[in-house]
Amino acid sequence: MTLEATTNHPTTLPSADELRDRVRTALKAAGSAIELGEPGGHGLQASTPLTGDVLFTVTETTVGETDSAIADAVQSFAAWRVTPAPVRGALVARLGELLVEHKADLGTLVTIEAGKITSEALGEVQEMIDICQFAVGLSRQLYGRTIASERPGHRLMETWHPLGVVGVITAFNFPVAVWAWNTAVALVCGDTVVWKPSELTPLTAIACQALIERAAVDVGAPPNVCRLIQGGREIGEQLVDDPRVALVSATGSVRMGRQVGPRVAQRFGKSLLELGGNNAAIVAPSADLDLAVRGIVFSAAGTAGQRCTTMRRVIAHSSVVDTLVERITLAYRSLPIGDPSTESTLVGPLIHERSYRDMVGALETARADGGEVVGGERVDVGGDAGEGAFYVTPAVVRMPSQTAVVHDETFAPILYVLTYDTLDEAIELNNAVPQGLSSAIFTTDMREAERFMAADGSDCGIANVNIGTSGAEIGGAFGGEKQTGGGRESGSDSWKSYMRRATNTVNYSSELPLAQGVHFG
Ligand code: NAD
Repeated sequence: MTLEATTNHPTTLPSADELRDRVRTALKAAGSAIELGEPGGHGLQASTPLTGDVLFTVTETTVGETDSAIADAVQSFAAWRVTPAPVRGALVARLGELLVEHKADLGTLVTIEAGKITSEALGEVQEMIDICQFAVGLSRQLYGRTIASERPGHRLMETWHPLGVVGVITAFNFPVAVWAWNTAVALVCGDTVVWKPSELTPLTAIACQALIERAAVDVGAPPNVCRLIQGGREIGEQLVDDPRVALVSATGSVRMGRQVGPRVAQRFGKSLLELGGNNAAIVAPSADLDLAVRGIVFSAAGTAGQRCTTMRRVIAHSSVVDTLVERITLAYRSLPIGDPSTESTLVGPLIHERSYRDMVGALETARADGGEVVGGERVDVGGDAGEGAFYVTPAVVRMPSQTAVVHDETFAPILYVLTYDTLDEAIELNNAVPQGLSSAIFTTDMREAERFMAADGSDCGIANVNIGTSGAEIGGAFGGEKQTGGGRESGSDSWKSYMRRATNTVNYSSELPLAQGVHFG
């Protein structure tokens, strides 16, 4: 069945030349002096999913330059770690001010490179501003504890110290926020940062680097507290393998995490992994269906299904499943699909052809497994969208059971619908996938809501009640369990991952009692 979702929303896509102009203007405003090459040159091909065109060639960082970037970050660390934390906070405060000033410029770049609709792109930049504010407050709160000592005249305490160079590897779908989550917190913790963004989003990275460099000059911070290296997997691997990089914070697919985790562990480095999700919402018989439909449609079709927290499964009670599917399908029909820089658009493009092929393949498998598919067609949005642009209608798939394809994270807007009769069954389905990032329950029954968040409830890092699976605030720790990698970033006490802990025992008596009552000589 087709959704014919675009007939009500004709958009004229901007031309590649117009997009190039927008990029140049935004980068210039951010203060970047980097020369961008013509498409087809030697280096990274910076393309846009809006039209599928390559816009510029961006110079790739060489192995030698990466080595120097790490060396510079090590050198800056020596001065930065002894700079008082509240003074370090001033750098992040200045970055936050510059982000406010350049919110629209960065939003434009996020839309052009990642294909996010304007509102979501601006929301991503707002998240950067929010984390800067959070980190500035944190710069006066990096406290340890004092613990009761078993020995008289002794004090036992914990102190937290800067860790070293933090290597940040980011995914295409949050090209700026994830850098900011890591960088704002790492900087106030006294670390220096070397960032390898996704090879799909080098332009937004150039803008962020220009802003942090300006902030460093403005507050007199060492110039190399943050370095940018551009390239693909190989450059990422160099960061992963370098023993001078104390922490590798890597965001991306489970496939990437499977490679990065063991390699960092091999050299006894620390890693913080933020990997794929396969997020579900349970819809209970008592659910407010108006609320549930709105929450589901935003989480499942928003960002064209390309968030780590995108809702990929609905587990609906047998008494509501028919109505729910009908209402989601109806809502999907009215979703405007097209140019994400047009204000009325709600669904932009997939990042590239491979995503589209993955979506087609997953839907074929789901059909073969007995799934009833609605939507999932490629859409011709007109304008300059060439062969390389991939716009799709979001798909809803009613599945007879949770087959292997439902266990995979297909990074596209596919929502599998499963049916349950008892809450135990629903929670079991929620937890049966290998990933453990986000989850939700729509219910007005307090017992069900509490059970969902209890020890025998959802096994995910995020468990929500009456909101969707996506759109987290920066105040809470963000991350997930199982194949999602176990890392926590952003709010709460996530800062502890960016510092080293020391336990200190001070003897202020003139005796030397030993712990555990040991006598020695
Ligand atoms: P990806 O795994 O293809 O790439 C992510 C980054 O890792 C890129 O910078 C890439 O160059 C780098 N990389 C890949 N292999 C590497 C290796 N062996 N060593 C070092 N670096 C390597 O992911 P993507 O397609 O850019 O992003 C989508 C994926 O990211 C999805 O799975 C999504 O769920 C996940 N994601 C997770 C979170 C989270 O917080 N949990 C947030 C955003 C995205």
